[in-house]
Amino acid sequence: MAHGLALHGRPRAALRLIRRIPRPDAAAFYAALKACHVSCLAAPARALFLRIRDPRPEHVVLFAGALARAGQLAEAAALAAAHRHLRVEILRAVIDGCRIAGDLQLGRSTAEQLLELDPLSADNYVLLGNAYAAQGRWKMVEKMREMARDLGLKPSKACSWIELKGKVHVFAVGDVAHPRSQRIRWEARRLMAAPVGGSDPETGDGLAGFALHDVDEERECVVGGHSEILAVVFGVLSTPETALVRVTKNARLSRPCHSAIKRISEAAGREVLLRDPLRFHHFRHGECSCGDVW
Ligand code: ZN
Repeated sequence: MAHGLALHGRPRAALRLIRRIPRPDAAAFYAALKACHVSCLAAPARALFLRIRDPRPEHVVLFAGALARAGQLAEAAALAAAHRHLRVEILRAVIDGCRIAGDLQLGRSTAEQLLELDPLSADNYVLLGNAYAAQGRWKMVEKMREMARDLGLKPSKACSWIELKGKVHVFAVGDVAHPRSQRIRWEARRLMAAPVGGSDPETGDGLAGFALHDVDEERECVVGGHSEILAVVFGVLSTPETALVRVTKNARLSRPCHSAIKRISEAAGREVLLRDPLRFHHFRHGECSCGDVW
């Protein structure tokens, strides 16, 4: 239950539950640290971590992630030095913190360290390539792609899916394979252009550079063609007006897509529940439950 609350961005409720357990076990501490990690809370994470007598690797990584996401980047990086067998996972957590804090310099140098440590992971080339992209260093972005290609590594492609009447509909970036593709794109353009309250849609995302998706792949495509937008709009078109639209994505949302789904939820008057690898986002009336931090 605490883990569920953590994934839905309700850390206080999750921590209240854990406090009621007389002797929390490893799973309880995991759920509590997860709540701190998802919601970027450093102080409660520190207090919890000190209580764990024999921390497991997943506790250390979540603790590092909570610190990094709360902006305590130096403390998180120090954990990588203290737990050398977990350096890869902790450095990834530090890069995530750099993305939120907008620390492009540290993000890039950490991504360089990560690639040195683990040169056979395609995702690391994407991370470092995206860190270079965030600084506008496109030649280095291309070099990272070449290096990955030469090693025969293939970065995973971002995709989103939605289940309707027992059938799973999968969408990739710029997908035109779906039979209702034209209608979906037309509706996406209409909803995103609809006048709604709140701020204008964001068109750029300097910090997406550190997200684990190929920023170059998305750069080549307008926001309306991103996989999660296609899946959400298909859900809006294919379900009753009062139904919740549930979509899953295999990668983190980019900032322009997050803003676009907020607009779609408001313009269409629909509630959207989107799960990414980190958490659930509840979009309602043009707002998201994550408070725009993920
Ligand atoms: Zn959100």
